[in-house]
Amino acid sequence: MTKKISIIGSGFSSLSAACYLAKAGYRVSIFEKNNSIGGRARQMKKEGFTFDMGPSWYWMPDVFEKFFADFGKSVSDYYHISKLNPAYKVIFGQNDEILIGDELDRIYETFEEVEKGSAAKLKKFITTARDNYVIAIDKLVYRPGISPLELVTTETITRLNRFFSNISKEIRKEFKNEKLIKILEFPVLFLGAKPSATPSFYSFMNYADFGLGTWHPKGGMFSVVKGMESLAKSLGVEIVTNANVEKINVHKGRCIGLMVNGKNYDSDIVVSGADYEHSESLLAEEYRQYSDKYWDKKTFAPSSLLFYVGFDKKLKNIEHHNLFFDTDFDKHAKSIYDNPSWPEEPLFYANFTSKTDPDTAPDGCENGFFLIPLAPGIEDNEEIRTLYFNKIITRFERLTGQEVQNNIIFKQSFCVSDFIKDYNSYKGNAYGMANTLLQTAFLRPKLKSKKVANLFFTGQLTVPGPGVPPSLISGKLVSGIIESEYQPRPVEALSVT
Ligand SMILES: Cc1cc2nc3c(=O)[nH]c(=O)nc-3n(C[C@H](O)[C@H](O)[C@H](O)COP(=O)(O)OP(=O)(O)OC[C@H]3O[C@@H](n4cnc5c(N)ncnc54)[C@H](O)[C@@H]3O)c2cc1C
Repeated sequence: MTKKISIIGSGFSSLSAACYLAKAGYRVSIFEKNNSIGGRARQMKKEGFTFDMGPSWYWMPDVFEKFFADFGKSVSDYYHISKLNPAYKVIFGQNDEILIGDELDRIYETFEEVEKGSAAKLKKFITTARDNYVIAIDKLVYRPGISPLELVTTETITRLNRFFSNISKEIRKEFKNEKLIKILEFPVLFLGAKPSATPSFYSFMNYADFGLGTWHPKGGMFSVVKGMESLAKSLGVEIVTNANVEKINVHKGRCIGLMVNGKNYDSDIVVSGADYEHSESLLAEEYRQYSDKYWDKKTFAPSSLLFYVGFDKKLKNIEHHNLFFDTDFDKHAKSIYDNPSWPEEPLFYANFTSKTDPDTAPDGCENGFFLIPLAPGIEDNEEIRTLYFNKIITRFERLTGQEVQNNIIFKQSFCVSDFIKDYNSYKGNAYGMANTLLQTAFLRPKLKSKKVANLFFTGQLTVPGPGVPPSLISGKLVSGIIESEYQPRPVEALSVT
């Protein structure tokens, strides 16, 4: 009999694991609690507007290409991507903004215009960042985080200082202009920690940003989810939505299946792509590896207050991606990491996909996605959400020089309590557990349970970390461990076919 694998959740990591495991010959079923797949990357369609509910930056196109190539396919078999130019806009004040172009030479020129001599420094910085990217992709992130020895390579030994110095310090050694510093510190925010707590080796994210560029999948990030769903189904994966997993059934230290919506389903192996802490809460206490104290001590990536907004007109002075960095980043960061509270003057991010992808809004309209990063676990209610929407939309109007409040025809918010309710997210985190020095590789929660023989985990709380590309890699890593431990079929069956 072919081994049956049940996967909890349908986020990127689960879809990735499902594809690899189905290709290896297992019978794979995905159980997703929500009525749609994609996890944090779900799509919302309302009143003619299309919104990606979570991720919107398509970075590291090579990782997506590698994923599909593992199945003899390419990205273009499933969706169309185009490179954005400008990649994004950073707004520091009224008529005070910097556009980041789509080519390194253009970005060098922009830096030079802002700070004399900075182009040469940026070239050097990007050369190191590119070397780090090659090492990270070729030697590190595709390793399962089992042993510290995975980090020991000739390349990493000679770069040890880059693991112990932080990226903020490295950037500040070279660049003096605060705006350029903020732009260079931005990419590591995707890893979930503040730049002063992120090893400088992670400058590879700057290469991902400036060197590889910002891309847009036509139709939005959900097109990637649809592409992976289509691949998974073609490989025989069964996907069940509205399927809330209530329990991971264990007998004598081995998983025997799942309880889904009150019914038991047998499985030979279980993989959970749901948030790790929630996944372990589905087990009897004796089978959990990590205590409440363990999770509480970890540095989580921020939660977010999100607004999906439909405007009945085209907006001016905006690009596809826009960072509103006109307030004090350090104060905002303190409210996330040091003293969890609502930030007084938040930085925020806004995207308008209809600017480059007109099908995502009705004719003559614009769709807006606004994001304020927040401390996980803080109080969240309608009153605070409204207060913060008013704060940022007023600033948005002033900074972009237009009135928009009377042009809003659709608005929906999403915040800490929704992350918890919709995804069983720990403290309502938006993008998992941060990649700090002490939460990297083998120091992250493990892909394989130490207490239940045939139970595995994948996703942004385990290896390698937060973000869509790491989630694709996480699915590949977990399936690699499973394949090395369990044959899809008994050996006799294999020799017959
Ligand atoms: C607002 C936001 C913006 C982001 N921006 C970017 C970006 O621009 N670029 C980027 O690369 N990354 C970004 N990210 C991060 C990226 O979206 C995530 O890292 C990635 O989608 C995580 O995938 P995952 O598979 O680990 O988890 P998830 O997507 O969370 O999937 C877990 C799934 O498990 C399901 N589940 C939970 N409990 C159960 C249960 N008991 N039974 C059944 N199912 C269950 C959940 O419903 C969910 O579908 C962003 C995230 C957010 C939230």
